Formats: sequence, C-alpha cells, structure tokens
Amino acid sequence: MLEKNLKILDDVSRRSSAKIILALKGFAMWSTFDLVSKYLHGCTASGLWEARLAREEFCRFNEEAEVHTYSPAFKEEDIEQIARISDHIVFNSSGQLKRFYDKVKEINPKIHISLRVNPEVSSSPVDLYNPCAAYSRLGVTKENFDSALLEKLDGLNFHALCEQDADALEAVLAGFEEKFGAYIPKLKYVNFGGGHHITRKGYDVEKLIKIIQEFKERYNDIEVYLEPGEAVGWEVGYLEASVLDIVHNGMDIAILDTSAEAHMPDTLAMPYKAKVRGAAEPGEKPYTYRLGGNTCLAGDIMGDYSFDAPLEVGDRIVFEDQIHYTFVKNTTFNGIKLPSLAIKRKDGNIETIKEFGYEDYRDRLS
Ligand SMILES: *Cc1c(COP(=O)(O)O)cnc(C)c1O
Repeated sequence: MLEKNLKILDDVSRRSSAKIILALKGFAMWSTFDLVSKYLHGCTASGLWEARLAREEFCRFNEEAEVHTYSPAFKEEDIEQIARISDHIVFNSSGQLKRFYDKVKEINPKIHISLRVNPEVSSSPVDLYNPCAAYSRLGVTKENFDSALLEKLDGLNFHALCEQDADALEAVLAGFEEKFGAYIPKLKYVNFGGGHHITRKGYDVEKLIKIIQEFKERYNDIEVYLEPGEAVGWEVGYLEASVLDIVHNGMDIAILDTSAEAHMPDTLAMPYKAKVRGAAEPGEKPYTYRLGGNTCLAGDIMGDYSFDAPLEVGDRIVFEDQIHYTFVKNTTFNGIKLPSLAIKRKDGNIETIKEFGYEDYRDRLS
C-alpha cells in the first residue's frame, strides 16, 4: 500500500518534472526508507533531528537524495550541524536569514538558500492547520519581504495547504504569484510545500500536473518541489487494538488497550472520526458502543460505532488509516504502552519492527 502511494507520487514527479520530497513531520517510519528512497527525491526536515534522520537513514539508500531543512526558528547551537548535513536550508524570516547566512555559507558553500513566504491565501479547514491564518508566524508576508535579500536566495518556499485538492493549490499559487511573481525569474526553484492530498481517491492528479507544467513554462523551466507528508502515508496502515472491558452508563462503552489522546492525537486535535473496520455509524448496525481509551482523560474517546455482533473482551478493533501523523506524535501519557510498529510484507507476513517497553516511558521522564 505504501508502494502504491509512492508510485502515484513518482508518476506525478515524472510527468510534471517536479521533485517530490518526503515531509518527515508526517511520516518518519525509517524502516521503510529503502523503499521510499527509490521513488522520492529526498526529505524535508523541520530542524536538526529530522535532518539527521534524513541524512543517516534516507540518503544511505540514495546518494542523490536531498535534505531540505526548515525551521520556524533555527537555534544558534544547531545551525552548524544543520548547515553541514543539509542541501537546502529554508529560513522563516528575514531576520534569521541575515543572522545565519554567512555562517551557513561558510560551513557549506554549496548549500541552497530559501526563504519561506506567506502567500496569505489558504482554504485550510481548521486554524490549527492553517499557516496563513491571521497573525501566522510561518513565512514572510509581502509587506515584510525585504527584496534586498533576493540576491542571497536560490528559492522561495510556501506551504499553505492541508489535505487539499489541486484547485486549492491553484488558488494559493495565484496568490503567491501575485505577491512574489516579480522575484521568481531570479530564482532556481520554488517549493510548493505540502498538504497536497495526491494519493487520496478522487484527487485531481491531471490538474496538479498541468498546474506545475504551466508554472514551469511561465518561468523558464524553473525547478518545482512538492513536499507532502500525509500523502505518502495516506491509507497505508491501521492501528489494531483489543477490547479490555465493557462498561455501561446510559450506553455500552468499550475500553480499549489504546488511546485517542496518546496514540491517535489528530482524532482529538483535527478533530476527525477514524473509520473502524466492519463497523458503521451508531444505530446503523444492531450493537452500538462508545469506544474509549485506557487513560484517565475523560475525553479520551474515539467515537460511537455500531457492530453486527456484541463486542466481547479480547475482540480486536481495527482503526483504519493510522499511519500518517500518529506515531510521529504519540506520547506515553498516563504511562500507557506505545503501540508496536509492524510492517505487513507483500507475502502477507507481519514483521514487528519495534516494540516499546517501560524504559521508553521512564527515559523520557526524569
Ligand atoms: C507539515 C508540512 C509539510 C507536509 O504537510 P502534509 O500535510 O503532511 O503534506 C510540508 N511542508 C511544511 C513546511 C510543513 O510544515
């Protein structure tokens, strides 16, 4: 399933001539990077540790892979190492660019320099995930863009989408060009960020390819990057849990050996309701349950679902599409065990690649 997504991204890349890099923020299962690195051009990192992961675990399979590192604000103590292991560095403000430009160039003269700009156009569904919401700290607005810095720049980055289709990109790109178009002929590349829901069924891949091709035609075949995270891990795997107990309080409630808060954070933050294999909306099937997590947080609830048969202790519950933005974000809140990570191979074999223990909980505390 992962390879299926990678092939879609590879097809987009080949036909549009855009380079596609993996946003580690959304999917960092490095045990799959032997496969991912066959299809994608590198990684985008949000700071030193992700950049190291990209350099050490991705680039070893693909010498040509690129490491792009962006951070809302780089730290003095990290910048040397970041400059050494990155091919591209993306600053979030003119202040940071001015502060670190000479140092970064001195350490790595070949490094490409970019600035993230804010196109001030976005139709992101919720403000938590909207980098162009009012007072956003992410990217330089046109008003604050210092064109004197242009001679230092190889590229410009924007990132304004979240789980969106190609028409949303079209609108953002129009805003970007209206505000920053005059500078593009001076650049080597433009990075269109992430949030492109390319691997979702119904995503208009042809339109995306056309948008990129036409952009490249307008600007003398300039290099274009896309950096999706979610689209790489989209619908490639599930979280499997067990029913630990069934309690009753006005309705039937199943307590599971997992947690929405600790293991499926976006179900509470986004928020959205995960699909459960074989289950339907409450009341549609004969047996309705509220599914809850095994922490003491009252709101640790996955939602209400109905089933064909009564749930029993020990039954398995499968939450679909729990790969992107889950284990990159999960926590040991309340001392509950982190889910094991496993890969289901093409031959059907399930290989457990990571199990977590008490020490993982202990060692991140003090
Ligand atoms: C989060 C992020 C991405 C990846 O976004 P997805 O929604 O996972 O595709 C890419 N670029 C930047 C700058 C980001 O912050």
